[in-house]
Amino acid sequence: MSMAGYETIIGLEVHCELKTETKLFCGCRNAFGDEPNTNVCPVCVGLPGSLPVLNQKAVEFAIRIGLALNCEVKWSNFHRKNYFYPDMPKDFQISQYDLPLNEHGTIELPDGTVVGITRAHMEEDTGKSTHLGGSGRIHGADASLIDYNRSGVPLVEIVSEPDMRSGVQARAYVAELRAILVAVGATDGRMEEGSMRVDANVSVRKPGDPFGTRCEIKNLNSLRSLQRAIEYEALRQVDCIEAGERIVQETRHWDEAAGRTGSMRSKEEANDYRYFPEPDLVPLAPSAAWIEEIRSALPALPKARRQVLVGLIGNDDQATLDLIATVVDRDLDALVVEAASAGAPAQLAVTRAANELNAEGVLPSAKSFATTCQMEASGALSATQAKAVLAALSETPDADPKAIAASLGFEQLSEDTLSTTVDEVISANGDEWARFAGGDDKLAQFFIGKVMAATKGKANGKAVISLLNERRSG
Ligand code: ADP
Ligand code: MG
Ligand code: ZN
Repeated sequence: MSMAGYETIIGLEVHCELKTETKLFCGCRNAFGDEPNTNVCPVCVGLPGSLPVLNQKAVEFAIRIGLALNCEVKWSNFHRKNYFYPDMPKDFQISQYDLPLNEHGTIELPDGTVVGITRAHMEEDTGKSTHLGGSGRIHGADASLIDYNRSGVPLVEIVSEPDMRSGVQARAYVAELRAILVAVGATDGRMEEGSMRVDANVSVRKPGDPFGTRCEIKNLNSLRSLQRAIEYEALRQVDCIEAGERIVQETRHWDEAAGRTGSMRSKEEANDYRYFPEPDLVPLAPSAAWIEEIRSALPALPKARRQVLVGLIGNDDQATLDLIATVVDRDLDALVVEAASAGAPAQLAVTRAANELNAEGVLPSAKSFATTCQMEASGALSATQAKAVLAALSETPDADPKAIAASLGFEQLSEDTLSTTVDEVISANGDEWARFAGGDDKLAQFFIGKVMAATKGKANGKAVISLLNERRSG
């Protein structure tokens, strides 16, 4: 299979669960992982006569999302989307239709591509069914279990324009979108727990041709599956076209284990949702004043936060950008900025934050983090030792890194000791030294390893290199 001569067109629909205390239209707890069917009431299991009451916090989160995605926030209303599915007890979902809350936005990817946001509307989540026996899908299952705890959880669905051109780009879009949604506090962004779920619309065409017929791949729940599914699906479509077949518009599912997409239902079998305005809710008309209040309280967005770190480091090569993205994704940038202003070299602080700090665990104080980075930069600690000090700080975040280093036996090697050790290592490895002295720089790593072993990891790699170079030139 090959994409030769074709390009891939992708538009994504992302469902995001909002991090409210309670559900969208009732007071039941919105929580993941509780005992099944314990967070339910007449409203969210759709008993006759129950009435929905809109959750203001959910609307605020939805507006934050719209503003962060540069949307127009508009007068909107709710519609009933009618279809039958056992995990949807009312037989309709309250959603938004032709008058969504947010429209016409954009999102800029780290590579500079701007992807259009068609709309970001509010709706309620359905319950969750688990199919027992067979493949885990409903077909061929022995029994199905239904948990209504998720029924009525607030969602925002973010629909993009068909502006993406590769699986890699679609992945970057979802990563950036997730970072934005988390930054504004609207969601926890946990794809593996289903709090962000992605449907990918994929078509292929020869560049310059009109868009081809698309297929929609449902419920991708990791960045990796998203990219793989799109790449597979594009190849499948090109293969069909090259074989003289036509693409039929259909819904497909992704089989992670088999690494392929399969047909779920074709457009002919698609539901007619019979949308009509929800009679039990008034239109949603946020005042201009409220929208402005929410706008002015928006936190800095990931792109701006990354730029702060780029500015501090003064370097934007790809490796540095990747480290910076990790630091911002894990919400460690404030700590890095504070450590840098307390004297830590920014590049080192970003590297250590990205690789050594556990964002979910206890973090060092900015002062302790800064001191550790400074000790490493000055050569008082080797890289290995600095990492050990950072690990110890996760138990005692305010401890003095100097005291930790001393208690771990990381007293600084004197220059004399290091110099003597280097000389010993050189005379014990005459052949290697001859090659290094003759210009084979690859052997530097060999000597650093030997010196590290001899000093039990206490030597500073940079200091060793400069001693080796001194010996070689002198
Ligand atoms: P529907 O109402 O059936 O969901 P939409 O027009 O709202 O259809 O489009 C849904 C998604 O499909 C959007 O994200 C859009 O960008 C994307 N899309 C539309 N046409 C194409 C196409 N030809 N190729 C890939 N994606 C497309
Ligand atoms: Mg759709
Ligand atoms: Zn309820």
